[in-house]
Amino acid sequence: MPFKTMGLADPLVQGILATGYTAPTEIQSEAIPAVIAGKDIIACAQTGTGKTAAFVLPILNRIENVPQKAKKKKTRALIVTPTRELAVQIEKAIQGYGRFMDLKTIALYGGSRIDIQMRHLRKGMEIIAATPGRLLDLINRGSVNLSMVEILVLDEADRMLDMGFIEDIKKIIKILPVKRQTLLFSATMPAGVKKLAQTIQKSPKTIQIGRQHNPIETITQHIYPVPHIQKMEMLLHLFSKGEMYSVLIFSRTKRGADRICKRLNRGNIEAVAIHSDRTQSQRLRALDGFRRGQYRVMVATDIAARGINVEGISHVINFDVPGYAEDYVHRIGRTGRAEATGDAITFVSQDEVLNLKKIERFIECKFKPELLDDFNYNQKVDIHSSLPGQGKKSGRGGSKPGSSQRRRFKAKQGGKPKPKAGARPAKPKSGTGKPKPKTGARKAKSKTSAKKARPKSGAKRWSNKSGKNASRNKSK
Ligand code: AMP
Repeated sequence: MPFKTMGLADPLVQGILATGYTAPTEIQSEAIPAVIAGKDIIACAQTGTGKTAAFVLPILNRIENVPQKAKKKKTRALIVTPTRELAVQIEKAIQGYGRFMDLKTIALYGGSRIDIQMRHLRKGMEIIAATPGRLLDLINRGSVNLSMVEILVLDEADRMLDMGFIEDIKKIIKILPVKRQTLLFSATMPAGVKKLAQTIQKSPKTIQIGRQHNPIETITQHIYPVPHIQKMEMLLHLFSKGEMYSVLIFSRTKRGADRICKRLNRGNIEAVAIHSDRTQSQRLRALDGFRRGQYRVMVATDIAARGINVEGISHVINFDVPGYAEDYVHRIGRTGRAEATGDAITFVSQDEVLNLKKIERFIECKFKPELLDDFNYNQKVDIHSSLPGQGKKSGRGGSKPGSSQRRRFKAKQGGKPKPKAGARPAKPKSGTGKPKPKTGARKAKSKTSAKKARPKSGAKRWSNKSGKNASRNKSK
C-alpha cells in the first residue's frame, strides 16, 4: 500500500516523499493503518526496519487532522525513548516528515541545560520525545503538562527495561490520561516487556516483523578468532586494506573505546569515541561528524550506540564480544539498515568463547569462524573449547560484561544483580537451548561480499574437529 492511500494527510505525504521514501516498509504498512484506526499496538521489529516512521507518521497525521485553534500549546503525543541520541534522532525525524506542517516539538534529555528546555516548554509543545529521567525531572518541576496526551509511544521498550527505567516509566504513565493510545515498540519481547504491555495497553494489535532475535538478513556476519592481545593489531590490519569506509566499532568499556579511538587516530584514521562519559554536546558532535563523513570511524559503547541511525555504515566491528547476546543483535543492526547491505565482524578471543556461544543460542545460528590468511597469529584461538569461568569476566582487567548497565540496574532495583553475566533475566529461551542448524542457510559468499571488497576475502576457515559443517547459517 503506497503512503498516499494509507489515509495520511497531504502535507504529511509530501513530507515523506521529500524525505525520499517511495513506499512504506513492512512495519510501516502494518502499524500506520492500525494506529490511525485508534488501536494500541505492540510492535516487535528488528532494528533498522523503519520503526520510527511507523509511530511518528500516525502521530503527525493525528495532529494535522485537528482543527487549528484546538492544536495550540497542548502536548498531545509523548515518545519515551532510552537514550539521548534517540530522543534527538526521533525529534529530527518528526521535523523531517512534518516539514510542511506547522509543528511545535522538542527533545528532552539529560546532559543538557534544563533551564533552556523549561523555557521552550513554556511555549507549548505538541510532541515531546524524551528520555525517562529528564522527563520525570521536568514533570517534578512542573514544567511539563501531560494531561492532554492522546498517544504515548514507548520506543525500544526492551532496552528501557534493561537500563532500569521501569519505575520511571511507571511514574510517567501514572500521570497520563487513562484514555489514550499506547504504542509499544521493542526489538525483542522479553517477559518484562510483555508484562508491561498487559498493564498499560488495551487489546493491543501485535505486529511481528521478521523472526525475533535474528539479525536482519542484509547483514553478513563474520567471526574472527584472535588472541586478545592481538585485537588492536587485527583492527589496524583490516583498516590497512582500505576497504572499510564507514565503520562503527563497539567496545565493551568506555576506556576501551577511548583507547581504540586514540590508536586509530595515531594511525591517521579519523575516529571519534562516543560513550556515557562524554558530554552531551561531545556526543552529538561525534555523531554528527560521523554522519557527515568527517570521521570514518566511530567507536562506541553499547549504551551510547543504541538505536543510532546513521546511513551507510558499511561495517560494524565488535572489538569485544558483547556480554549480552541481545546487544549483539542491536550492535550489528547499525549496519544493513533500510535494506542496505553491511558486514558485521566480531573479534573473539579465547576468554570470550562462552559469550559467543550464548549469541549463537540466542540467534539460533552456528557461526563459522574465519582466519585471515594475511594476518600473523601469535597463537590459536579455539572457539570450540571454552575456558572455565568464561563469560563472567571480560579479558580486560576484570571489567564485567555490560558493567555500566549492571550498575544502573543495581541502583534502581535495590541492589539486586542480574542473575548471570551474558544472560538477561526473563529472556525467552530459544527452543532446547541448543544451537540449531538452520535450513535455508546462506552461503558464505553473499551479494554483499560480491559488491564490497571485504576483509573476509582471503580468509581461511578453522577446521571443525567434529567435521560438521559449522557454516554461518543465517536464520530467516
Ligand atoms: P528506523 O528503524 O526507524 O531507525 O529506520 C531505519 C532507516 O530506515 C532510517 O535510515 C530511515 O530513514 C529509513 N527508512 C524508514 N522508513 C523508510 C521508507 N519507507 N523507505 C526508505 N527508508 C526508510
